[in-house]
Amino acid sequence: MMLDACILCGHTPLEALDTHAARCSQCGLLHNLAAEETSYIEGGGQAVPNEAKTRWRLINAQRRLNIIAPHFAGHDTLIDIGCGSGEMLLAAKDRLSHVLGFDTNRPLIRHIRDNLALPVIEGYFDAAVIAPDLLARKKIFTLSHVLEHLAQPLGLVRQTHAAMLPGDLLYIEVPLYTGQSFRQQGYRWNLWTAEHRALYSPQALDFIATSCGFKTLSAGTRIFARGSYSAKTRWRLFFRQPLLFLKCLVTKPTYLSIADVMIGDYGFVVLQKP
Ligand SMILES: [Zn+2]
Repeated sequence: MMLDACILCGHTPLEALDTHAARCSQCGLLHNLAAEETSYIEGGGQAVPNEAKTRWRLINAQRRLNIIAPHFAGHDTLIDIGCGSGEMLLAAKDRLSHVLGFDTNRPLIRHIRDNLALPVIEGYFDAAVIAPDLLARKKIFTLSHVLEHLAQPLGLVRQTHAAMLPGDLLYIEVPLYTGQSFRQQGYRWNLWTAEHRALYSPQALDFIATSCGFKTLSAGTRIFARGSYSAKTRWRLFFRQPLLFLKCLVTKPTYLSIADVMIGDYGFVVLQKP
């Protein structure tokens, strides 16, 4: 795929690294030149997870909520855009009085309705289909592992911004090319896939926040919950870089593990509409 301009910031020209990727020198986005248009309506790459997968995804969603929770101030509604198999909604319903999910993936929407009995809307995010009394509440929007699939990521962020009231929160999480897995595995990393238009960097996330006029409340890195608290991973990180390990141990926030900080395959930001 030929790209004339950055899909996030519009900057041109892109810096072609090789036949796989081109980097934007302005916002830091790494474009996947082999990305393909994917339809998720009948599932795409995402299937209904088995029990073991669901358990880890739920723990993962709970840890994600722990990152946002310090910023709750009367927020009682979570709207998860790209809710997948619904674990974020499931985790949030214990803490918040209202949850709502959006996804285009029919099998997953059916799974949430039949097995989790949580409110979900089949389709792309559209504030016009949300009940006005829900839109009037103090809300948290979440976009986890969604933007990397989009050819116009800023369009969805702006659309979300428009649905937010002052004080509402937006949590974004994306895979990074600056994390350990991409640095070590490069294009062999399983998140370098044709479904992903780009991989992000902390700089690209900062560009999103700034260009939409959000206030950044928190920013950092994490990994999927399964590896995050693995003792084996912790020892490996300690022996590889003992000084950095000890530094991270004293400086990291309590809601992140050492592996979240040192491996850092996913980037997150907690944003607020002023
Ligand atoms: Zn750019």
